[in-house]
Amino acid sequence: MSKIKIFALGGLNENGKNMYVVDVDEDIFVFDAGLKYDNDLNLGIDYIIPNFDYLINNKKKVKGIFLTHGHEGNMGAIPDILEKLPDIPVYGTKLTLEIVSNDMDKKLLETVKLIEIKPHTKLEFGKNSIFPISVTHSIPDALCYVLYTPDGAIVYTGDFNFDSTMMGHYKTDIGKLAYVGKQGVLCLLCESFYADKPGHTSPQNRVADFIKEVLNKSKDRMYIVHLLLLLVSNHYSLALFHILHLYLFLIYFHHLPMLLCIYLMLN
Ligand SMILES: [Zn+2]
Repeated sequence: MSKIKIFALGGLNENGKNMYVVDVDEDIFVFDAGLKYDNDLNLGIDYIIPNFDYLINNKKKVKGIFLTHGHEGNMGAIPDILEKLPDIPVYGTKLTLEIVSNDMDKKLLETVKLIEIKPHTKLEFGKNSIFPISVTHSIPDALCYVLYTPDGAIVYTGDFNFDSTMMGHYKTDIGKLAYVGKQGVLCLLCESFYADKPGHTSPQNRVADFIKEVLNKSKDRMYIVHLLLLLVSNHYSLALFHILHLYLFLIYFHHLPMLLCIYLMLN
C-alpha cells in the first residue's frame, strides 16, 4: 500500500489562494497555485499567496503543478513560486498558460517549464499518472484532474458546474467523469462553493440576454462596461454582440485583448 498524504496550502474555508498537495510515496503532485486579494483592513497588501515552504523543502520530489484554469484564485501565485522554484514544471491548457505567461517577467519566462496539455491525454509519472478531463467553468479550457495511484484514483475537480448550454472549450466531458466514477474513486477533492444551496446553477451565458435587452432599449449611447476576469464567457458574449450590432463599447481590462485573440484561435 502507498503512503498518501493530502493537504491544502491554501483555499480551504476561503475564496481564492487555492493550492492542494497530494504526496504519494514521496512523489508530490500540486494542484493549482492561486492568489487572493486582501480586504480593506490591510492597506498596502496587493495580494496574498499560499505559504509554499513545503515545496521549497521538498523541491526534488515535486512532479509538477497542475493548473485547472486561468483564474487568479487558481494560478495567480505561479510567477512568485517560479521565481523561487524555476525547475518545477507547470502543466495547463493553452489558454491557462497564456494567462500565466502574460503575468510573468520575460526573463523568468525563458527559464521556466510551462507544459501545455490537452484534455483526455494521460501523463505518466512512474507508477502514478494524471488524466485531465474538460469541465465547464466561466473561463474556457478548464480541467479537472484524476491522479491514478496504485491504490486508486484521487480526483481534484477545480471549479466547475454542469451546464448543458455550454459547448466546445466550455463543455464538461460527463462521459469521462462517469467512467472514472465507475472504476471507483479513492478520494474526491471537490469544489464546494454554494454546495449548501439546493437546486441548479444558472446557465453561464444567461447574463448576455439581460445586457442585450438594456442595449437595445437605448441606442446611440456610449457604454462603459466593467467585468471581472472571472466571467470571460460574458466578455466574449459582449464582444460578439458589439461586432454584430456595432454599438460602441469601452471595456476596461488589461487581459482582454489577449483573451479575445485566444478565443478566436480556439473557436
Ligand atoms: Zn475559477
